Amino acid sequence: MRWSLRLGSISGIDIRVHFTFALLVVIGAQQLGQVHGERGALFGALSVICLFACVVLHELGHSLVAQRFGVGVREIVLLPIGGVARLLSEPKKPLHELLIALAGPLVNVVIALGLFLVLQVSPLQLFDIQELQKSPPTVHSLLLLLFHGNVALAVFNMVPALPMDGGRVLRALLSFVFGQVRATNITAGLAQVLAVAMAFYGISHSPLLVFIALLVFMGAEQERSTARTNALLAELQAGEVCDPQAITFAPGDTVGTAVDQSLRSSQAHFLVAYGTEPIGTLSRDDVVALAGRVGLHTPLATITRRSPQTVPPDMRLSDVRRILQENGGAPVVVRSDEGALGVLGFEDLSRIASLTDSLARGGVRRPVAPSPETSG
Ligand SMILES: [Zn+2]
Repeated sequence: MRWSLRLGSISGIDIRVHFTFALLVVIGAQQLGQVHGERGALFGALSVICLFACVVLHELGHSLVAQRFGVGVREIVLLPIGGVARLLSEPKKPLHELLIALAGPLVNVVIALGLFLVLQVSPLQLFDIQELQKSPPTVHSLLLLLFHGNVALAVFNMVPALPMDGGRVLRALLSFVFGQVRATNITAGLAQVLAVAMAFYGISHSPLLVFIALLVFMGAEQERSTARTNALLAELQAGEVCDPQAITFAPGDTVGTAVDQSLRSSQAHFLVAYGTEPIGTLSRDDVVALAGRVGLHTPLATITRRSPQTVPPDMRLSDVRRILQENGGAPVVVRSDEGALGVLGFEDLSRIASLTDSLARGGVRRPVAPSPETSG
């Protein structure tokens, strides 16, 4: 993510903090500095940093469980409104989504329980917020604050509003009964009702809540559209959507040939092959970006992306999409025993998704099968 600083890496996951986060530390220092002087300012800054360390642990909870189920994690980013673990793809099964979603809040429950044991105070004292606000900056009050922070993190994240953790848990549970698409539609609908209520409440109480409500509303809509796209893509196989007329280059063709073809064709990715034996892929964007640097007479072999991932023709497009996400968008070659059938990238899948969506709205769930006269 841009405007962020890399703090380190755990289990291959980069942990980054957005520069705007520094503002929050300053606000924390300033607010407590006004009441308790220098010591208060230090306490305020430290409180914010410790609370966000708990947010990192929450996101690590999601990330490590995701990795356990074969879902790659790009990075964890800390923003002033909280943390985000950016997964490379969606979990494959509802049970995986359920456990990944639960892992984050569970980390906060464990931390809160640990702090409760360390603090050794009565539950009544524990929830005396006014006392906490008045208490001087000591290690005890910091631990008490962290206890409250972790309880709040667990409770807030478990609100059943997609795309928050609670919403994901609810969707996963409903998926066992209704299937992914219907479960997403029900959960997203509930999330949007909750978001509207949250926004109305926030107008008179907290502008931040209005902002979060807006994020939830848009996030729920995004989840709905992703689930629909995945369901439509799952109905098609990779081999069915490869264009037999697609332009293919030989490694000895020049960059100039690829530039000419890019101007004529709407193809986003090209196969580079000896006959049907794939060497690699070349995207239109690569051609445009590199043509000036390498020159038009250079053989394409020099700018070809070698050893592309191959997929079988019977792989569902929803699985192809998952592989593309995990590969950071690098296109895949569809290959049967006879050789390469074509190349598929994100551009192809979004074109197909948009077409199948329009077809589905007209009541057609698959490409029209050949009529008996033409096929036989
Ligand atoms: Zn979470």
